[in-house]
Amino acid sequence: MSSGGGNYRNETHRNSNPSKPALKNKSLSTVGASSGIRKSSPGSLGGGGAAKDDAGVPGRVRVAVRLRPRNAEESVADADFVDCVELQPEFKRLKLRKNNWDTDTYEFDDMLTEFASQKRVYEVVAKPVVESVLEGYNGTVMAYGQTGTGKTYTLGRLGEEDTADRGIIVRAMEDILADVSLETDSVSVSYLQLYMESLQDLLDPTNDNISIVEDPKSGDVSLPGATLVEIRNQQSFLELLRLGEAHRYAANTRLNTESSRSHALLMVHVKRSVKGGDLAHSSQNGNTTNTAKSLRPTLVRKAKLVVVDLAGSERIDKSGSEGHTLEEAKSINLSLSALGKCINALAENSAHVPVRDSKLTRLLRDSFGGTARTSLVITIGPSPRHRGETASTIMFGQRAMKVENMLKLKEEFDYKSLARKLDIQLDQLIMEHEREQKAFEDEIERLTTDAQNQISEAERNYANAMEKERLKYQKEYMESIKKLEEKWMMNQQKQGERKDQMASTAEEVAELKRLLNKEISLRKAAEEEVNNLESQIAQLKISEASANSEVLKLRKMLEDEAYQKEKLEGEISTLQTQLLRLNFEADETRRRLDLGGAPRKVPGSLESLISQARPQVNDLENGEKATIANLFEQVGLQKILSLLEAEDADVRVHAVKVVANLAAEESNQQKIVEAGGLKSLLALLGSSEDETIHRVAAGAIANLAMNETNQELIMSEGGISLLSITAANAEDPQTLRMVAGAIANLCGNDKFQNKLRGEGGIKALLGMVKCGHPDVLAQVARGIANFAKCESRASTQGNKTGRSLLIEDGALLWIVQNANNEASPIQRHIELALCHLAQHEVNAKDMITGGALWELVRISRDCSREDIRNLAHRTLTSSPTFLAELRRLRIDY
Ligand code: ADP
Ligand code: MG
Repeated sequence: MSSGGGNYRNETHRNSNPSKPALKNKSLSTVGASSGIRKSSPGSLGGGGAAKDDAGVPGRVRVAVRLRPRNAEESVADADFVDCVELQPEFKRLKLRKNNWDTDTYEFDDMLTEFASQKRVYEVVAKPVVESVLEGYNGTVMAYGQTGTGKTYTLGRLGEEDTADRGIIVRAMEDILADVSLETDSVSVSYLQLYMESLQDLLDPTNDNISIVEDPKSGDVSLPGATLVEIRNQQSFLELLRLGEAHRYAANTRLNTESSRSHALLMVHVKRSVKGGDLAHSSQNGNTTNTAKSLRPTLVRKAKLVVVDLAGSERIDKSGSEGHTLEEAKSINLSLSALGKCINALAENSAHVPVRDSKLTRLLRDSFGGTARTSLVITIGPSPRHRGETASTIMFGQRAMKVENMLKLKEEFDYKSLARKLDIQLDQLIMEHEREQKAFEDEIERLTTDAQNQISEAERNYANAMEKERLKYQKEYMESIKKLEEKWMMNQQKQGERKDQMASTAEEVAELKRLLNKEISLRKAAEEEVNNLESQIAQLKISEASANSEVLKLRKMLEDEAYQKEKLEGEISTLQTQLLRLNFEADETRRRLDLGGAPRKVPGSLESLISQARPQVNDLENGEKATIANLFEQVGLQKILSLLEAEDADVRVHAVKVVANLAAEESNQQKIVEAGGLKSLLALLGSSEDETIHRVAAGAIANLAMNETNQELIMSEGGISLLSITAANAEDPQTLRMVAGAIANLCGNDKFQNKLRGEGGIKALLGMVKCGHPDVLAQVARGIANFAKCESRASTQGNKTGRSLLIEDGALLWIVQNANNEASPIQRHIELALCHLAQHEVNAKDMITGGALWELVRISRDCSREDIRNLAHRTLTSSPTFLAELRRLRIDY
């Protein structure tokens, strides 16, 4: 802070009167010697704190003089004397009478005469400072003067009786409160008394040793121990002042002192938020982002108004003389004289300002040589008796006027309140977060509960449904049971029959099991057979190739043979012609030798014989057998039979046909057999490959086989085998019919049962059914019926045991299949066969298994022939096995 030498000088010079005494002039000239704005120096009263780069506004300490009117005592005592001072307010000059002829003239910033109103004093001395404080500058209003000159009157009158009496303090607060906004700004007050270098809190008398704290950086002085009361209205402020006064009075009483011995300091802290923010500081930073703005702390101005009511200035000089203790005098002296020294130093731009010499100067470091706008009112009385004191006061004022302060805006960002605000925001966010979290947890819990409810409801529903279903089924079950019981009761009568059924069920099961096993073994056998065949096929394929080449070779040979045969046939026909000619010649010779008899007319040759017989053979059904018989007699049986072995096939064919025709006649049969015809026929079957020969020969054998003696011969000659082979090679149904007929005849012989079967007779019969021709089937059926009849007879006679050989050879299947054949001869034979088989218990099981039982039942019911029907019925009823099966099948019989 600087003492505004220049300004001060100019102002003083402006008002200076050159005619004034030397002291004044000297004083002025002295002041004037310091030219220009003096920058603050470390030694200045305010130099430590406010000396910052940002220079303030020069503001010299303003000094006004107030002259107290004569009081009652002075009016009386000084009645005859002229006042020692004269104020010339129009010139802002004060004349101090040195003696009757000499005066000193002093210039001050303002002259407040004895008539000056308190209002005017306020406006002149304090109002600019108050306004400055409201703008953010520190301010000081201080009264200096001899005791009783009106310092307290000027500063501290409350004006309770007369509003016009209100002093600076009251009016200052009124202006402050009127200007600030209590919503954004704050006004708070400390009230202190400095007595004997001890700083007492007038708002809290127990606190009588408040320490002064100086911020080494900013130089700001603070009193952290002092009570700071926030002022919301004028009334509370007045009460606070009264309280402070009361405490001051009490303290002074206690200390046996008076107010004039102590300094009173009122500190008004005005903190204002700067609206719109961007004044001094923001302009420094230029652009700011929105984010930065939102985080930017409020700009605040914290100014302090200090009002100082000093102890009487006479204390400096008169301390000892008025009986004060040395200590007290020293102390009063100390602060006041230190203040004087500092102001002197500042006024003289001295390098050293002894700020730290007293508490008062420490407290006022900002007021003199600091950053505050300072206004000093010096109070003087008119009495010439106190001329010295008055002069001393004036000199103090004069020196103070030279002190130049550097006003600085007390503006700063309110980081604390920003921090507070952020804290609050943070807390709000924390609370909000907590609320949200709680809400979230509640929601989770609600959802969980909902889900659990839904689950339990679903479970309940499920359980209910289950229970319903269970009851439903239970009910249905009960009803079914009931129905079954009723049914059971109803069926109780039929239970006898049922019991059999029950029993037979087990049997049936066992039977089925057995069948199944059989089927399985059959299947296995079939599989083996298949495998076997497959390997055979493989082998055959191998041999096929060699066979093919063999065939080619044979074909070649065949062609050669055919050629040979053609040649031979030619020779044969020549020879035959020769033979017939020779025969004819022999006959002629015989006739010629036979002298007595007329020559008999016989057919000239076999050729003609056969040509006669041919139509008869071809049409056997015409019954023209007489011709054959004649032939037989005419040609001779031996001759005919010999032709059966003729080289020429045609001859053989013709011959066998002749024989067959002859054999059809029962009367010829014996002769034919005796002549070896049967043997020849059998041999022909074996040797010939001609189908016609086979057919015709088999027919002849069949006819001959009707005779028991012939049958024996056929059997002994291996006829069954020959017939079987013939059957196996035959394709013509008529051949098969003949063969089957022959075997069928043999089947009717009791003696050959085993032999016939052993030589494959039954198998041969069954093998022939595959041709399907009804004539063949009829012969097969006849054979089986014959065989069955003989077997039955043998069993009945005890000559046979064990089951039927027919069944053994697998005939039953065909029997059952054809039992209902539409051709009645077949059906008849089979019905009879079934009846014969059924007569023996030993066959019963197989018959049941083979399905023959059903046929028997059908025969016993539906057969058109009564005898067979009865036979079937008898058979069934006499067989326990059949009866059991019928019962099991619940067939009423
Ligand atoms: P100080 O505080 O300087 O010791 P005071 O303010 O107590 O002096 O004043 C002393 C006396 O003078 C008081 O009775 C006061 O009323 C009176 N007084 C002071 N100044 C004036 C004034 N300007 N007009 C009228 N009376 C005054
Ligand atoms: Mg006073």
